[in-house]
Amino acid sequence: MERLKTFIEQKMSMSHIYQPVMIKVLLKNGGIANKNLIAKNILSYDFSQVEYYEGITNNMVGRVLRKNEVVLKHKNVFELKDYSSLGNKEISELITLCDQKIENYIAKRGTKIWEHRRRNRKPVKGSIRYLVLKRADGRCELCGISKDEKALEVDHITPKNKNGKDIIDNYQALCYTCNSNKRDTDDTDFRNLGVKYDLRETNCIFCNYKRETILENELAIAFYDKYPVTLKHILIIPKRHCENYFSLSQPEINAINRLTHELKSKLITEDKTITGFNIGFNVGEDAGQTVFHCHMHLIPRRKSDVTNPKGGIRNIIPNKGKY
Ligand code: 5GP
Ligand code: ZN
Repeated sequence: MERLKTFIEQKMSMSHIYQPVMIKVLLKNGGIANKNLIAKNILSYDFSQVEYYEGITNNMVGRVLRKNEVVLKHKNVFELKDYSSLGNKEISELITLCDQKIENYIAKRGTKIWEHRRRNRKPVKGSIRYLVLKRADGRCELCGISKDEKALEVDHITPKNKNGKDIIDNYQALCYTCNSNKRDTDDTDFRNLGVKYDLRETNCIFCNYKRETILENELAIAFYDKYPVTLKHILIIPKRHCENYFSLSQPEINAINRLTHELKSKLITEDKTITGFNIGFNVGEDAGQTVFHCHMHLIPRRKSDVTNPKGGIRNIIPNKGKY
């Protein structure tokens, strides 16, 4: 008793709730428990998993059972209709019936029914997984939640069944709520339903761009501007045809951002005269946009390339640079 008490009270250094949960399970089960039972107990504390199944209960199973008049719903509580009319024998008969249904279903479909939730459903090498999570700075690349709050999974941006490649460019870190909302039904960003990354326009000069690309990744591509404002003026565009900045999905913003950082390093390494940048999107004709396939200007700047650089992009309105 003393040894355990001292350990729990004083020695146990916790980086999560796992240790007291495991000790509690052992205490409650005669001192012995297999890893499956311990895991199930940890799971019961994992609000993020529970939250996922609360969503399923409310929106799927709860709805169907209500429609069929099997259950009633009062706020967060479900009630089995006419439960009070059942005797104990009838209750256990119905439970057996449910157990049979569950067993038959699992026997027929196998573990496939949980495949969409499996941690290792898309085997991603440990080292690549590490790089993806590091690149995402430990946050979900769709909703931004930290890995400390919700477990992050490595997701294929373009799913494998749509010929998505097993390369780091095609991976993103998603919390598993975002990941399970996305599923792998198609290559859409679930927050912008209908975003098809393979969309190209026949008459668009950027969709049909054939000249040298400087860098590209899964969703974005960079090339030199044909009429450069300064030497090495680069355009970074989403591969998908879309009109402007506001039509970009989060994975595209991430892809463009990654290229921007890579190009910045490349440019300042190969051209020591570059000492600054202007970065920007023109949105709409009135703001000066002339090509209606979204593009970001990455404009290298050099000391004294204009007499008075003050204000930078403020100078899009003449004489407004200075304030
Ligand atoms: P916007 O005015 O729409 O923001 O920018 C369009 C940009 O596309 C301009 O900077 C222009 O120089 C560039 N541009 C227009 N046509 C071509 C082309 O055929 N190839 C390349 N590389 N750039 C182009
Ligand atoms: Zn286009």
